[in-house]
Amino acid sequence: MEKGIGVSKGIELGRALVYQTKPIKPEERIITTNDVKKEKKRVDEAITAAVAELEQMLDKIDRAVNPTSADLLEIHIELSRDPLFLEKIYHYIEFSLNSAPDAVLRASGEMAASFEALEDKYYAARSGDIRDIGNRIAGILLGVRRVNLSSLPGDVIIFANDLTPSETIAMDRKHVLGFLTRIGSPTSHTAILAKSMEIPAIVGAVCGSVSDGDFVIIDGSSGEYFVNPDEELIQKYTRKRLAFRENLARLKKLRNLPAVTPDGRKVEIVINIAQPLEANKIEPAGAQGVGLFRTEFLYMNSTSAPDEESQFEAYREAAMRANGKPVIIRTLDIGGDKRLSYLAMPKEENPFLGYRAIRFCLDNPEIFKTQLRAILRASAYGDLRIMFPMICAMSELRRAKQLLQECKTELTTEGQDYNNHIKTGMMVEIPSAAAAADVFAGEADFFSIGTNDLCQYTLAVDRMNQKIANLYTPFNPGVLRLLRNIVTEGHRAGIPVGMCGEMASDPMAAVLLLGMGLDEFSVSASNVPYVKDVIRKTAFSRAKELYEHVMTLSSSIEIKKYLEENINAN
Ligand code: PEP
Ligand code: MG
Repeated sequence: MEKGIGVSKGIELGRALVYQTKPIKPEERIITTNDVKKEKKRVDEAITAAVAELEQMLDKIDRAVNPTSADLLEIHIELSRDPLFLEKIYHYIEFSLNSAPDAVLRASGEMAASFEALEDKYYAARSGDIRDIGNRIAGILLGVRRVNLSSLPGDVIIFANDLTPSETIAMDRKHVLGFLTRIGSPTSHTAILAKSMEIPAIVGAVCGSVSDGDFVIIDGSSGEYFVNPDEELIQKYTRKRLAFRENLARLKKLRNLPAVTPDGRKVEIVINIAQPLEANKIEPAGAQGVGLFRTEFLYMNSTSAPDEESQFEAYREAAMRANGKPVIIRTLDIGGDKRLSYLAMPKEENPFLGYRAIRFCLDNPEIFKTQLRAILRASAYGDLRIMFPMICAMSELRRAKQLLQECKTELTTEGQDYNNHIKTGMMVEIPSAAAAADVFAGEADFFSIGTNDLCQYTLAVDRMNQKIANLYTPFNPGVLRLLRNIVTEGHRAGIPVGMCGEMASDPMAAVLLLGMGLDEFSVSASNVPYVKDVIRKTAFSRAKELYEHVMTLSSSIEIKKYLEENINAN
């Protein structure tokens, strides 16, 4: 048995296909100044050809069946046409006298590297898309034909060094049973696509010991894979594959059913998104709205702070795609690991304890108000809600609401439409706010618990530090007591309490949170069916019993063991 990181659930058995691509290498050619115009024209033509290729792929996709692939292709088309990208390419042709393909590879490499440098896994993973686009355009210029995975003679499990998002989209879904790559991260678009296309996938696999035609088994949940297994393993995994498929079919039927326990306690399951397009996932996931729209992407995809108009368009798009369902927009949470090149952000000893999120916004009211005005204007087009991140003191919540009021007054004077009663809530992700939830509950319309940060601050464990990752758990009794306080005090004040941190996505934790009284679970779209399933299977009375017992236990190890023994999360 060998092991990588399982990124897309499912079990498959079949023959291996070792997929090798010729790397696109720069030609390292220096041009003369006379050639500058000609090379720029070649770039323009190659971009047009790349966009045409992508549009052709997009035409073949049924959005209703595979919205993620369609959305991603749209992003690739948009990035290919990005004026900033073109400006960079032109710059290298004009000032470094790079040939057209070299300038493309240099510009895409540079943009990808700036994304990679971000510690935030979500944004770092976007670098794969930019490289993919650069390779496509440079490949056209160099006349390198890409090997095609879109028509395969029979069923295969692909073993590759790496797969780009566009290679993944182009895969012949009828014949690709699954894939393994040596490179790749769980948050890469390739992994996200595999999940949405329901192709079992493993990344970070060694892949060295396999040849074309070997019989292999892959388990995309555990990350385990076997090359030339014995008969006993084949039998065992054939049974596991059947059980997996049956369970998946059952989960799919839950899509249009409510998240309600057998004894009638109803909760909301909503999704976390980072781009307006992703609001398309609400319906197919079987969710009831968006519980967290991380707006950082709008700012990170840009060379200067996005203006009111472009933000308005983005929020309106999210509202329209949500089709009347609620969308909670979180105001800019920049700083910490997410830095913006165009803003003077001081280097800090402890960026996670520093100048970030609401602290930055209150200090830069013009940037903050631009976003608030854009959200307010977009609120005329759907059920948008506003959420402030990283609130640690009441003065911050009050000042943020005051600025929001200023924006409302301005818009009224200008005669612009907006929802005057827009719900305004806060994230509870700093222990001071969690402990004083009673105080905050009086002035917020809703709470959403950010366990990703709440854990790191409560436990004094950096969420990025692998060395101490074993201490980072929301099952720590200290964290659980804070969660209990937030839910209890929120309810005492009559406001709903949700959670948009990763804890809500864990089916086992979801039962505990159900018992605690949490009202709303905001999870990634692919996790909706698993959380819904466990909620529909667990009586509220039983969840309460489990929760009450958990609160008598003294360590995260005991708590996890107890939950594992008492919850059927499959
Ligand atoms: C959180 O802290 O739990 C959260 C949802 O916010 P982020 O992960 O964006 O910091
Ligand atoms: Mg957070």
